[in-house]
Amino acid sequence: MAKFTGHCMKCREKKEFEGEEVIKDTKKGQVKFVTGPCPDCKGAIWKIVGRIVKKQDQ
Ligand SMILES: [Zn+2]
Repeated sequence: MAKFTGHCMKCREKKEFEGEEVIKDTKKGQVKFVTGPCPDCKGAIWKIVGRIVKKQDQ
């Protein structure tokens, strides 16, 4: 697992966390996140690291 820095919603501050990459499908395309537990509150931190925008089929 790699280390990332992200904003924890519960602690309301930036935390360094160990996370993994997740790709989610949305209507506008795919969004790549890293997610992992906050070291302090154990809540999940989600950070957007990239977007893969779908080409419109027209
Ligand atoms: Zn936290």
